[in-house]
Amino acid sequence: MSGPSLVGGVEAGGTKFVCALGTGPGDIRDETRFPTGDPSETLDRVAAFFEASAERHGPPVGVGVASFGPLDLQRGSPTWGWITSTPKPGWRDVDVAGGLARRLGLPVTIDTDVNGAALAEGRWGAARDVAHHVYVTVGTGIGGGGVLNGRPMHGLTHPEMGHLPVRRDPARDAFPGGCPFHGDCLEGLASGPAMEARWGAPPETLPPDHPAWALEAGYLADLVVTLTLVLSPQRIVMGGGLMRHRGLLAAVRGIASERLGGYVRSATLDDGMAGYLVAPGLGERSGVLGALALAQAAADAGI
Ligand code: ZN
Repeated sequence: MSGPSLVGGVEAGGTKFVCALGTGPGDIRDETRFPTGDPSETLDRVAAFFEASAERHGPPVGVGVASFGPLDLQRGSPTWGWITSTPKPGWRDVDVAGGLARRLGLPVTIDTDVNGAALAEGRWGAARDVAHHVYVTVGTGIGGGGVLNGRPMHGLTHPEMGHLPVRRDPARDAFPGGCPFHGDCLEGLASGPAMEARWGAPPETLPPDHPAWALEAGYLADLVVTLTLVLSPQRIVMGGGLMRHRGLLAAVRGIASERLGGYVRSATLDDGMAGYLVAPGLGERSGVLGALALAQAAADAGI
């Protein structure tokens, strides 16, 4: 068997796009990033990057897109590969996968940014030694993706773990939540913008002993408990800008262990979840590497 295929990856974010050509984290041959503009102009820039980089490094066998969403990922659907009900202006009902495939003349696969990141963490990062795991990002939004038997989780659409209902005690937290769909869902209570709206200051300016952090850890622990009970993953990788706050990951482990109450028995959960709930191995690179991982997986599967 030959080595990993040369593939293209597109991290499609609400504020920026990152494009890369390579075979994996140790072999990125070309890369660019630019702010997200209107869909047509943005996809033109993506296509221009791959055309130029293919001339220098050879053509990729396919391109993977790890995108913000929600997305239609139902194979056979007339709107497969579209961004659907996003609140981002101009991007509702946009055919991202088809638009790129037409521009590039290459196979294009697409999945959520968090499913891509989960796949990349499984191939090259903090979940290399397990087959079932979840990746969660906590930042401007909260999202989660999962890998089951080495494949990204899909079903009706794709997991939307960030919008989990969590228990809010109004006596302890009077903030009603900021999610336009659900009010006090997890994202509505625990994303960066929710923290800022509740405390009147950006989270990175809140000192370590501020009550914001204990509240935050409690909400994220509810997510960890739910994921553990519903999906029984072998590992949960938790990243994103807010998780860089010192001590937050450890606090989430402590509260989640306590709330599980010793009910789920596994050696993996021993040691206070130190080997179960972990930081990403790929750090900030999980987005674009997720896109490359999606393209690699499609190439391996002959899609
Ligand atoms: Zn919500």
